[in-house]
Amino acid sequence: MTKDELTEKVCAEYEAIRSSLIDSSIPKARIQVDFLSETEISKPNQVPAYFQDAHKIRMVFLESDLDDPLAINGFEFSGQKPVWKTELLHEIIHEYQFNCVPVATEAGIQLMKSLCGNFSGPGHDEKFYTAICECADKLGLTPETLLKNI
Ligand SMILES: [Zn+2]
Repeated sequence: MTKDELTEKVCAEYEAIRSSLIDSSIPKARIQVDFLSETEISKPNQVPAYFQDAHKIRMVFLESDLDDPLAINGFEFSGQKPVWKTELLHEIIHEYQFNCVPVATEAGIQLMKSLCGNFSGPGHDEKFYTAICECADKLGLTPETLLKNI
């Protein structure tokens, strides 16, 4: 697969998931897909992220992923998603958190309390867990099930 083809696949997945979670009146985030060498990816901050100010989702792949059907498609026969799809869903939930959650709900606060330390790094606050509760509802999942997929 080429970089352009995989970038298109990521953008298509973004559009599909986002349309069921975030109202179309909110402008879509820009999707940036980076392909890194083993050396580059081991440097700090070479991870997927949502950037609130730029309204951008950055996705990170190894260049070698392009030749790895498992990295691109996961275990299709068993329904196991590739890692990048769980990463993308995680970042879309951050997009939701910063654009659709004005204040944390009681459900979000309680979920965060019950899972303290579940995610490391900034941005995993009560509003993030509120976003998990609300997105799970929109996807017809329990928050606990959604948590296993992000
Ligand atoms: Zn996160």
